[in-house]
Amino acid sequence: MINVAIDGPAGAGKSTIAKAAAKELGYIYVDTGALYRTVALSAQKMGILDSLDDAAVDRLIDSSVVEMKYIDGVQAVFLNGEDVSSLIRTPEISMGASKVSAIPKVRAFLLDLQQNIAKTNNVIMDGRDIATVVLPNADVKIFLFASPECRAKRRYIELIEKGESVMYEDVLADVNQRDYQDSHREIAPLKPSKESIMLDTSELNLEESIEAVINTIKENIDERI
Ligand code: C5P
Repeated sequence: MINVAIDGPAGAGKSTIAKAAAKELGYIYVDTGALYRTVALSAQKMGILDSLDDAAVDRLIDSSVVEMKYIDGVQAVFLNGEDVSSLIRTPEISMGASKVSAIPKVRAFLLDLQQNIAKTNNVIMDGRDIATVVLPNADVKIFLFASPECRAKRRYIELIEKGESVMYEDVLADVNQRDYQDSHREIAPLKPSKESIMLDTSELNLEESIEAVINTIKENIDERI
């Protein structure tokens, strides 16, 4: 199986780029952020997102059945049997996901799910610790990044297009806060692996970014074969 790991900070365009590259190459696209978002949604539904002590985390894990399914080739996430793919796309859940993802038990809880899909499929998996923790033997490891302002602008446009009423300054503050949280946590912090190929998308448009990722994958897979 070919396993491609794409890591990077929030808003670097990982999901859009990885999804398009996967389609082009005929691989399955795995969005691991959606899994952390699903756990955050579960905590929110249980009313414990702001009080996640040890006992609450145990309760959260015991009461959350998280599944990933592919419907017409598109990933959907399920919480206790319910398709929550759109419910997890809110700023509150973004922040909640960053919070629950710093909890070791939550990371361990989601690890098998991520590793199993890569064992049986050619995948492009995007996240924060794919190259370092989830798929340390991935065939290609890419670290995709862009300046915080550039990422905030993209996320802002995305939210506005979805009809959310948000301010650019708030989105930028969120991006900076999530960057800080994600890269300073003790467990699986956001950082490139030794082998990661660094790709800066600040100056690239979407098509150029997709092309850069596809070329990087092709070059590195050919090298291996
Ligand atoms: O990628 P996305 O923005 O949907 O991820 C939401 C949050 O989930 C991130 O801010 C990060 O804290 C967490 N995450 C993670 N490890 C991953 C994917 C996401 O910690 N592999």
